[in-house]
Amino acid sequence: MVIAKAWALKKHFDGFPKTSDFDLKKIELPCLKDGGEQKLLLESVFLSVDPYMRPYSRRVMKEGDIMIGTQVARIVESKNPAFAVGAFVVGDRGWRTHFISDGKNLQLLPSNWPESLPKSLALGTVGMPGLTAYFGLLEVCKMKPGETVLVNAAAGAVGSVVGQLAKIGGCKVVGCAGSDDKVAYLKKIGFDEAFNYKTVKSLDEALHKASPDGYDCFFDNVGGEFASVAINQMKKYGRVAVCGAISQYNDSVPQKGSYVQIPMIFKELRMEGFLVTRWNNRREEGLQALLKWVVEGKVKYHEHVTEGFENMPMAFIGMLKGENLGKAIVKV
Ligand code: NDP
Repeated sequence: MVIAKAWALKKHFDGFPKTSDFDLKKIELPCLKDGGEQKLLLESVFLSVDPYMRPYSRRVMKEGDIMIGTQVARIVESKNPAFAVGAFVVGDRGWRTHFISDGKNLQLLPSNWPESLPKSLALGTVGMPGLTAYFGLLEVCKMKPGETVLVNAAAGAVGSVVGQLAKIGGCKVVGCAGSDDKVAYLKKIGFDEAFNYKTVKSLDEALHKASPDGYDCFFDNVGGEFASVAINQMKKYGRVAVCGAISQYNDSVPQKGSYVQIPMIFKELRMEGFLVTRWNNRREEGLQALLKWVVEGKVKYHEHVTEGFENMPMAFIGMLKGENLGKAIVKV
């Protein structure tokens, strides 16, 4: 008999999440059966902490539920011939060390995954965040060679891939992030211009200096004040991909901002929100493209790994505070 550990949402977050909002539970798992749904026993090896968990906890969870989230898990026991013992899958079973499954909604890692590549990348650069960058740039921004792309939260899981894919696509890339170390990293991985949005005197001036002619594409991970300022620096017919609004997720009282209509009208901008799940039917295409670029060394990755399942709440809170360079991962 296996006892799984799992983190539950004890209390809905009010403002910035706190460790006391979480509860560590023990769950006794049933034994596997030949028929029915209890065909696989899995153990989580890497778990993902992502910004979406903050707004989605309100939308889809009630207090006491196990925290939502994805993991790379190893098959420990199997009564389903499609999943061999020892194989690795991406699952969406939340913050749990072990779980039982019938195999539905489990994605085997691509069969051409190189042995030398960390499997945790299936939660980052070669996973959902990488796909977000890929489809957001290609399908929402519709970037073209020679254009200038702006991305914020640029040293994070999505942003760091956005910048590198835009370079592969022949664009000039400007990124901003919240520390000097992150800015140095952006320059190292090929961003043309990068700055620390927390220390510049004026965001408006920094954006102008980085690209005096303005921006064709703006991949917005942050929203709020940053987006209000940046939209004024778009070029005529520019495209804004509204991917995330992390600067607003912890607000108890909605922010009042400046409004976007005037620049939208006079620059004839297109602004589109999106969820990466829109392209679930093209997941394989995106993953294979990302995997190829990573293997060729054209897309670099960095992971911020927190050791220990017990530290999941801390890892989540740390990511929301900006402690991560690259993808925030928890290693069980
Ligand atoms: P990151 O790895 O980028 O981690 C979050 C980062 O956000 C932090 O490291 C921090 O970096 C930055 N940040 C936190 N608070 C603020 C703030 N108040 N203002 C500005 N920046 C802040 O996370 P992801 O790459 O996983 O996600 C990035 C964005 O993309 C999020 O908004 C997320 O919700 C969104 N997303 C949307 C998807 C979709 O389908 N639409 C799918 C996946 C992600 P820094 O130090 O630079 O401030």
